[in-house]
Amino acid sequence: EVIPSSYQITSEFVKKILPKRKEDSHKGDYGTGIVLGGNPNMPGAVKLSSLAALKMGVGVLHTVVPTKIQQTLQNYTAENITWGIDYTNWQKSLNELAVPLEKSTAMAVGVGMGTQDNLNFFKKLIASYFKPIIIDGDGLNLLSKLSTKDIKENWILTPHPKEMARLTGLKLNEITKNPVEVAKYFSKEFNCTIVLKGASTVVSSPKGIAFVNISGNNGLSKGGSGDVLTGILLALVCNGATPLAAALSGVYIHGLSADLLVNGQDNRGVLPSEVAFALPKAIKEL
Ligand code: AMP
Ligand code: MG
Repeated sequence: EVIPSSYQITSEFVKKILPKRKEDSHKGDYGTGIVLGGNPNMPGAVKLSSLAALKMGVGVLHTVVPTKIQQTLQNYTAENITWGIDYTNWQKSLNELAVPLEKSTAMAVGVGMGTQDNLNFFKKLIASYFKPIIIDGDGLNLLSKLSTKDIKENWILTPHPKEMARLTGLKLNEITKNPVEVAKYFSKEFNCTIVLKGASTVVSSPKGIAFVNISGNNGLSKGGSGDVLTGILLALVCNGATPLAAALSGVYIHGLSADLLVNGQDNRGVLPSEVAFALPKAIKEL
C-alpha cells in the first residue's frame, strides 16, 4: 500500500468537519474571539480579520488595536467591541485586557501589527495565554525572533513563504520548491498546526500529516487576503473546531468564496473584503 505524502481537501470533508449551528442557540454557543494587531500605518488588516470573523459566525468579537486607531476600527463594523492599547507598555496593556482575555475562546494575533517596539508585549501576551492562538503576519515575524520551543500544540501558524523563511531559517526557494515536505517537517518540529499559504496552500498537523487545498484563484494574490483567512480561522476555532479542523475547512472556504466571486468575470477584481462578505454563500455551496 502506498501512503500518499499529502491528502487533498475536499468539499465533502469540509462539510463534515465544519462546526454546526443549532436552532436553539445564543451567542455564547459560538465562542468569543479576539483579533489583536494593527498599527497606525496599517489599520486595514485588523479590519479585514475582524470582518471575516464576524461573517464566519463568531459569537462575540473583541478587536484590540493601538489606541490611535481604535476609533477607526469602531467606525468600520458595529458588531465588535474595540479596545485601545499601547504596545510599548506591556504590563498596563495586559492588565487592561484581563477581562476579554479571560472570557475569550481563542485569539488571532499579529496582522498589520508591525515589529517596532512590540516584541516584549507580544512575548508576554502569548506566554500568558493557554487557549488556541492563530498567529499571522507580523506576529510570525515577531515569533521568528523568539524561541520556537515556546510554540504550543493548539496554535495555528499561517505563514506565506517569506514568513516561513524567517521562521525556519530556510531559503525562500527551499520552501517554494517543496512546500508539502517543509510544512510537514516544521509542523512536527514546532508541534503545532501550520498553514503554509500559496496558490496551493498546505495544511499540516502537529503529527506531520499534510493536506493540500485546491480552491481559490489568483484574485487572492492581493494584500489583505491572508488577513481574511486569519479571521475565518479564529471564528471556526471559537465555534468549536479543533485547530486542524479549522485550518482545513477555513482555507477551503476562503478559496471557494473567492472562486464564487469570479462568476464569469476576470479574477483580478476579487477584493479581500468581498471574500469575507461572500463567506456565507460559499458555505451554502459546499
Ligand atoms: P497573504 O500573503 O498573507 O495575504 O495571504 C494570501 C492568501 O491568498 C493565502 O490564503 C493564499 O493561499 C491566497 N492566495 C494568494 N494567491 C493565490 C492563488 N494564486 N491561488 C489561490 N490562492 C491564493
Ligand atoms: Mg499576510
